[in-house]
Amino acid sequence: MNTIRHDWTKEEIIALYNKPLMDLLYEAATAHRQFHDPNVVQVSTLLSIKTGGCPEDCGYCPQAARYHTDIEGNDLMTVSQVKAQALRAKSSGSSRVCMGAAWRNVKDGPEFDQVLEMVRTINKLDMEVCCTLGMITENQAQRLAEAGLYAYNHNLDTSEEYYKEVISTRGYEDRLQTIDNVRKTNVTVCSGGIIGMGESVEDRAGMLVALASLSPQPESVPINALVAVDGTPLEDEKPVEIWDMIRMVATTRIVMPLTQVRLSAGRTQMSREGQAMCFFAGANSIFAGDKLLTTPNPDVNEDMKMFEMLGLIPQKPFAKKSQPKTVEAEESEFKAMGEKPKWTRPGHSIERNLKASGKI
Ligand code: SF4
Repeated sequence: MNTIRHDWTKEEIIALYNKPLMDLLYEAATAHRQFHDPNVVQVSTLLSIKTGGCPEDCGYCPQAARYHTDIEGNDLMTVSQVKAQALRAKSSGSSRVCMGAAWRNVKDGPEFDQVLEMVRTINKLDMEVCCTLGMITENQAQRLAEAGLYAYNHNLDTSEEYYKEVISTRGYEDRLQTIDNVRKTNVTVCSGGIIGMGESVEDRAGMLVALASLSPQPESVPINALVAVDGTPLEDEKPVEIWDMIRMVATTRIVMPLTQVRLSAGRTQMSREGQAMCFFAGANSIFAGDKLLTTPNPDVNEDMKMFEMLGLIPQKPFAKKSQPKTVEAEESEFKAMGEKPKWTRPGHSIERNLKASGKI
């Protein structure tokens, strides 16, 4: 029986990742079946509630204001717009709505109050609600929890060492701090990363060490394959090989057997056969909808056809944890504190990011 280990070493994870593929798949599928029904896959819909104009310099992201991409920025959506989208997602089989806002961190004020109202509204539709809003304080995490938030997404992206090659406007410790703030509430943690950014297998393993050492481990771990967007610093990166994706999913499944491993960005580049191997290797969650924030994603109908062909069943909402209660704004125990936390700004320079932003 697999036990949950928090002391994985980088060397052990690299050895797993590099195993003969059939051995790796067998081990991952065995771990998967110990903790999950292998024919059930959770389906989430990702909604960009505020697009573009972000002050950060994440090298993979077309929403960073400093890069010259084709993204059209949008102000924060209204609660009724979000409710309409959530109803559409529910009717097409999604159990979770994940709302993303292109912010560095959450600021107390009318916009955050509006997001809290979106959380209340979607939770009342009996769907799981997830947010990805950048860095948050403990008080903000408490307010989201009270509104009925089910999960908070905050990706580690890559290893601590390679993080410095991708982002200069914040540090790895800020990511860990936000995850820690979320952990002080009953909101579940969603945190994963991106492969194909020029990192090594050691970096992929380093990220898994960091995630697996969290106690408890994240309830959900998205594995993204970079979608290289023109105008971003990573525009010239080669597409991720399907074998890398399968190995990454399988290794994640073995080191974090309880988590939901999510196939995220980059699915349009994967064949159905490739995706089926990822499901066999332990992936049990996908994003549905034709867009992932701003990058393309397979059509919902195509996904449902694939589910039918593979005999997969969408997971019901709150299958892993009960539905949180929603506390109305006027009954809230937590008030805005207007904190100005000192998130770091390492300030090192990344040549390719400077080039993409036209600074050199
Ligand atoms: S990934 Fe998020 S924080 Fe980074 S630039 Fe894009 S929107 Fe901003």
